[in-house]
This record gives sequence, structure tokens and C-alpha cells, in this order.
Amino acid sequence: MQRQPLEPLLAQLEREHLRRRRRTVEGYARSGSHAEPLIAGRRLVDFSSNDYLGLAGHPGPAAAMAECAARTGAGSGASHLISGHGAEHAALEEALAAFTGRERALLFSTGYMANLGVMSALAQRGETVLLDRLSHASLIDGAVLSGARFRRYAHADAAGAHRLLAASARPTAVLATDGVFSMDGDIAPLGALAHAARAHAAWLVVDDAHGIGVLGPTGRGALELAGLSAEDVPVLVGTLGKAFGSFGAFVAGSAELIELLVQKARPYVYTTALPQPVAAATRAALALAERESWRRERVLALTARFRAAARAAGVPLAESATPIQPIPLGSAHAALEAQRALTEAGFWVVAIRAPTVPAGQERLRVTLTAAHSEDQVDALADALGRACRAGAVRAAIEASERS
Ligand SMILES: *Cc1c(COP(=O)(O)O)cnc(C)c1O
Repeated sequence: MQRQPLEPLLAQLEREHLRRRRRTVEGYARSGSHAEPLIAGRRLVDFSSNDYLGLAGHPGPAAAMAECAARTGAGSGASHLISGHGAEHAALEEALAAFTGRERALLFSTGYMANLGVMSALAQRGETVLLDRLSHASLIDGAVLSGARFRRYAHADAAGAHRLLAASARPTAVLATDGVFSMDGDIAPLGALAHAARAHAAWLVVDDAHGIGVLGPTGRGALELAGLSAEDVPVLVGTLGKAFGSFGAFVAGSAELIELLVQKARPYVYTTALPQPVAAATRAALALAERESWRRERVLALTARFRAAARAAGVPLAESATPIQPIPLGSAHAALEAQRALTEAGFWVVAIRAPTVPAGQERLRVTLTAAHSEDQVDALADALGRACRAGAVRAAIEASERS
């Protein structure tokens, strides 16, 4: 017996323009900012990160991390339920509960794990889970882990969700959606979804990984923007590696919900607690985000500036008012050609391909951050305009339109 050879699988990805490659960040051109990473000896302007508030490279959280590490060491040594739960975790959970206006918050090591934990704790075999078609992979994987049957409604179609809830023979335990869709930048119809979930006694889970810290008058995210309460959205998932520039994630909700997750969420129970210095860095970042509201205002102002400049340069845009700005290109090949042209021009913008987005909807995903300058944003829009007119990109777009 021969093991299955792997080389043909990789070769097929290459042929289909779907092979992914990592680039190593060798350093940063300016200390205190991640906006200009050094890659292969060159300085690029990064328009791909989720560092919306420009906090990932900020010295404040880094200093809090170092100070905590000197006290606690680097590792937590065990899971939260054994002996790994420390004072920094507890303090961060309290700060997150206060920030989100909920009874309690529970830290997870990653957003991926938080979603696995929530979905598998709230839904079981014999029940149904309902998801937006463009939900993040971690919500889908969480639904699979739960053993419940899962169904998907058309993207952002609250009426469709309502119909599926009404037609389901089995109880629907959970209705889950991204708050801001990670690859499209649009915002879920949260008010209508809250209404549908309540009418059918389903738990509404909103994963606001890209909204928290950025949207709403005080940065509480997509729920604040929509004017929704903890009652409307009983389960809020937020991540700490995006706007807060740190690492980790949390679930916020009622004391009962959190207690159930502590008991039953396997990605919480069966894993080492995240290092306390990471929690300390996050708490410092949270305080910065609250104190420095200019960061939020700046990233949204740069987003509007980018859209105006890109439109003037003839760049196709999607309907998005958030710092996630997809540039639809129609095929993996076209998206890769555009990425290549932008790298030449000094910008790091990554092509997003299947299976992250549906085949035929490949794109460049531009993200704005408070750490960018106006000049960098204008220059990116110009470079995108040139890339979209360039021969190789045009040819790839035309080929995808023919096929
Ligand atoms: C990034 C992301 C996650 C995963 O969060 P991590 O902390 O990076 O694991 C979950 N949901 C959405 C919508 C995301 O964009």
C-alpha cells in the first residue's frame, strides 16, 4: 500500500491559482506602527491587516505585556479550570463585561475557538442551527462540532432567515451571523434578525469581530450602531486581535450563559489559558481605544476618503461603509495579478480567493487603519486604478467574464 501522494494536490492548487503563500514580516519601518512592514527587504504599506485602530504596534500594550510578564512569566501553565486562571484574566473579563454592558464576559484563546465553544454549547444533535451564507468559517465549524443540522439563509436576508425559522420542523437552537462580514465589509441586518430570533425562541449569536472597537458612537460595535440591547442580542462574540491589536477573544452575555460556557464549551475547557501578559496588553489596548476616540474617527474618515479617491480612479467598489473595502475582480487569476501589480507599487493588499469567498467572487480586500496617512490612502487609490487598467489584470478579468 502506498500513501496518497500529496504533490498532485499542491500542483492542482497552483494550476487553479489557489495556492496560498505566506510572506514573512522582517520588521517595521517605523517603531510603534505596523503600517509599514519590511518584506523581502522592501518597505510596503500594509492595507491588509485588521489593525483598525493602529494599536497592534503601539508601545502602550507592549509595555503592559512586558510589565505583566515580569510578574507572571510567559505561560499560564494550565487551563482556566485547573490552575491557569489568573488575576489579569479576571480583570480583563470584568473590563470586557463593562465595555459591552453585559453581566459577564468569558475570555477564549481565539475567536475561532470562541465560536466553536458557543455553537457547540448552545446547540445539539436533533436541533437546527441557522447561519448567514457568508458567515465566518469558525461559525460554520462550530455548527459542525455541535452535531446540530445546519442551514444557511441567503446573505443578509433576514426575511429568508425568518421563513426558515418558521418552516423548520425541529427547534432552531441558534441563529448566528457576523456583525460585519469579514470579506465583504457590509453589516448584517441585526435588528430584523433579532426580531426573527426572538419570535422563534432561538439564541441570536452575533460575531462582531470586525465591528467591536470600530463602529457605533462609542466604539461598542455593530450592536451599538443598530441600537440593540443585550436582550436583543443575548450572545456577543468579540475578538481582541483586530481593533484591539492584541490577541484572544471573548463571549459576553448573561451570567447564566457564561456559566454554561465555562462548564460545557470544549474549546474553553480543554485548552491552556492564554498567557496573562496577553490579557494585560489587551486591557491596556481597551483603555487606549476608549480614551482615544480619534482612532475610530480617523479610520472611518480614511475609509470615506479611500472610497471617494478609488471611485475617481475608476476602481470597482462594493457596498461597504466599514474599513473593509473589497475590490471585486471576478477570478483568482485577476485578483492575483492585481495583488502583484500593487506589490510592485509598494502596497501589500492580499487577493482573497476560494474557498474563503465563493469561486467567481475573488477580490482584493483592502483594509484601512488609523495608522495610515492621507497620502498613503490617496496613493493606494491611484495604484489600484492603474492596476485595474493594466494589461495582465484586464486580460484576467476578461477571461473570467468569458468563462
Ligand atoms: C477573525 C475572525 C474570527 C476569528 O478570530 P481569531 O481571534 O482570529 O481566531 C472569527 N470571526 C470573524 C468574523 C472573524 O473575522
